[in-house]
Amino acid sequence: MSPTSKPGAGRTFFVADLHLTDERPAATGRFFRFLEEEVAGADALYILGDLFEAWVGDDHDEAVAHETARRLRALADSGTPVRFMHGNRDFMLAARYAARAGMTLVADPARIDLYGVPTLLMHGDTLCTDDTAYQAFRRRVRHPLTLALLRHLPFSLRRRLARRARAGSQAAKADKPAAIMDVNEAEVVRVLREQQAARLIHGHTHRPARHAHAVDGRDCERWVVPDWYARWGYVVCDAAGCALRLEDL
Ligand code: MN
Repeated sequence: MSPTSKPGAGRTFFVADLHLTDERPAATGRFFRFLEEEVAGADALYILGDLFEAWVGDDHDEAVAHETARRLRALADSGTPVRFMHGNRDFMLAARYAARAGMTLVADPARIDLYGVPTLLMHGDTLCTDDTAYQAFRRRVRHPLTLALLRHLPFSLRRRLARRARAGSQAAKADKPAAIMDVNEAEVVRVLREQQAARLIHGHTHRPARHAHAVDGRDCERWVVPDWYARWGYVVCDAAGCALRLEDL
């Protein structure tokens, strides 16, 4: 590496499920170090959802929200584009916060050309089609009318609703077999075919791995980005391919 080149040069980083909150400062500190020590100078940083533990609107008042906006903004200003896709916990994150953080909002799914490889990016929750109760909940809560209604509620009420939804989801999760909270393989193949992609990168399941899928005789790969609870890590890609990094927090 030449002395002037930055650590991230020629590479694109993918993170998800950081679940940042003032209550877990170790993950926050690790994320900021990751931005400085590894992402600086990169071609792009993609945040594939659930950057925050909870987000009830851009008036979110945790210190971590302000500091994260400042750090991401600095990265974007230094020339590394920061792109954000909604997760199931921070889907209320809107244009106002994205602008503060220097992030571009991207749709789920997003199909990009990644160093010549057609690559599909998703948060991952829509791939968990075996969890029909969750998919029904998602359709209701992500409906544009619901979102418009939610945005008009006072902050304290939005926060209360979010806490109730979280408690309900945790209770439901305890009763669900682990398999239905993973992606459905047939759905993975279906989206890879529909989007004509050779690679899928997603988070959400907290099951970091690389999987191989055969789609109509084509060899495709699926990278699952890790969560940042007891560990941290990311998927990084360059012209030669992708790799998964996984470390203890
Ligand atoms: Mn998620």
